[in-house]
Amino acid sequence: MLDDILDYAEHLRERPVWQPIPDAVRAQFRQTLPAGPSELSAVHQQFMDHILPYSVGNSHPGFMGWVQGGGNPVGTLAEMLAAGLNANLGGRDHIPIEVEKQVTRWVSALFDFPDTASGLFVTGTSMANFIAVLVARARALGTQVRQTGLAACTSRLVAYTSAGAHGCIAQAMDMAGLGMDALRIIPMNAQFEMDTALLQAAIQADRAKGLTPFFIVGTAGSVDVGAIDDLDTLADIAAQEQLWFHIDGAFGALAMLSPALAPRLNGIQRADSIAFDFHKWLQVPYDAGFILVRDSTAHYDTFATPASYLRRETKGLAAGSPWPCDFGPDLSRGFRALKTWFTIQVYGADQLGRMIAHTCEVAQYLKQAVLANPKLELMAPVALNIVCFRYRCNAPDVPDVVNANIVVALHESGISAPSTNTVNKQLVIRAAIVNHRTRTEDIDALIAATLRFGDQFSSTDQHAASKQDDKSHE
Ligand SMILES: *Cc1c(COP(=O)(O)O)cnc(C)c1O
Repeated sequence: MLDDILDYAEHLRERPVWQPIPDAVRAQFRQTLPAGPSELSAVHQQFMDHILPYSVGNSHPGFMGWVQGGGNPVGTLAEMLAAGLNANLGGRDHIPIEVEKQVTRWVSALFDFPDTASGLFVTGTSMANFIAVLVARARALGTQVRQTGLAACTSRLVAYTSAGAHGCIAQAMDMAGLGMDALRIIPMNAQFEMDTALLQAAIQADRAKGLTPFFIVGTAGSVDVGAIDDLDTLADIAAQEQLWFHIDGAFGALAMLSPALAPRLNGIQRADSIAFDFHKWLQVPYDAGFILVRDSTAHYDTFATPASYLRRETKGLAAGSPWPCDFGPDLSRGFRALKTWFTIQVYGADQLGRMIAHTCEVAQYLKQAVLANPKLELMAPVALNIVCFRYRCNAPDVPDVVNANIVVALHESGISAPSTNTVNKQLVIRAAIVNHRTRTEDIDALIAATLRFGDQFSSTDQHAASKQDDKSHE
C-alpha cells in the first residue's frame, strides 16, 4: 500500500488531473453492509481500481481549481505514523500535545505573536474563523453570554468584512447566533481590497444607530483573486474603535514564510487572531486548519467547560491543563500536528517560503501569457497566486457560457482543472496556483487547451456551445 501511494505521487503527471466517474464505478459504492470479513489485499485492490483513479486530482500539477494544496510525501508518511499511534489530542499529558504546542510556538514567532498566544489545529479555516467569532463575541458581551445566550443580551453586535471575504465568515456569524445580517459587507477598491474609508463610515453609522461594533475581519489572500486587505490600516481602525481584529489568511497568511512576500502582509502582526490552513499553501495533507489567538485567556474563557469526567490533576496522565479541548468545540481530536511538524522540519521554513514564492511566479507567467494573447483577457489584478482570465468572444451574452464550457471541457479532457468564478459580474476562468508541483509547462498546456476549446465553442454554432451537454470534446 505504501509503495502504491508513493508511486502514485511520483507518477501523477502521467495521469489525467480528473476523469468522469463511470456508472459502474459509482455502483461499487452502493453495496450493503459487509457482514463478513474480506482479504485486506482485495480491499486494497478495490482502492486501486475504483478510488485512486477517480480522486479529486488536487495533488496533480494541472490542478488549479478553487484553492487546494497538493499534499507532500513527507506528510503522507507522517499520517501513517499518526494513525498507528492513534493519539487523541483532546487533552492529558503526552508528547503529541507538545508537538502541537511546538507548531503553535513556531507560527506565533512567524506572525510576531507573543509565546503566550494559544493555537489549535482544526479541520480548516472555516472552523478557525468560527472559533474567532466566538472568542470575539465572548470578549464583547462577557463570558456570561455562554450561560445566558444572546437572547439575554441587550447589545446588538455587528461585524465588518470586505465584499471579497470568504462565505464562511457569514456562516460563522450565523452559527454564532449573531445572524448574517449583522455582518456588514464593505465594498472593495479597484485592487479588490476592503475600502477602509467605507469601513470607518459603516462603523460610525452603526454606532449612531445604537448597535455595538465588535469585530473586523481582514482578508490576507482573498479566495476570488488573491487580494490582501490593507491590514495595517485595518489594525489602526480596530485599535481606535476597540474592535477585535481577526484575519482570514486561509492560504495567504503563510506567505510570511517568503521574505519577498512577507512585507505585503504588513499589519498581520497586529491581529488579535489569525485563521489559516497548513493544507493549502504549506502542502500538508488534508486536513490541517489552524486558529491562533493572541490572548490565550480570552480564547480559554470562550470554550473551557468543567466536567467531572475531565478532571485535571497536577501529576499523572490527567495533568497538563489547560488541554486543547479547552480552546475549541472538539473533545476527541486527531494528531494533525504531526504531519505539519514533519513537513516543516523536513523541508525547512526557507524552502517552503521559496515554494510559496514560486507558485506566485508561475501565476505571473500565466498572467503574461494571457496578456500576450489577443484571444484572452485578464479579468483581475494578480496580487499573489490567483489568475482570473477569460477567452474573448464577440457576441455579447455568450462569453459566460463559452468560458463555463471551456472549464468543463478542460476538466473532462484531464489536461487541467481550473475553476470558474464571477468577477465584476462576469464569469471568469480562475486558476489558483497553490500546488508546488505546477510548472510553466502546465500553464502552457492550460493556455493551449483553453484556446483550442474556446475556438471550437465560439466559432461554429454558438447555440451548440451553450448546451452544457456538448459532447464534441469527449
Ligand atoms: C479556503 C478558504 C477558506 C476556507 O478554508 P477551509 O480550510 O476550506 O475551511 C476561508 N477563507 C479563504 C480566504 C480561503 O481561501
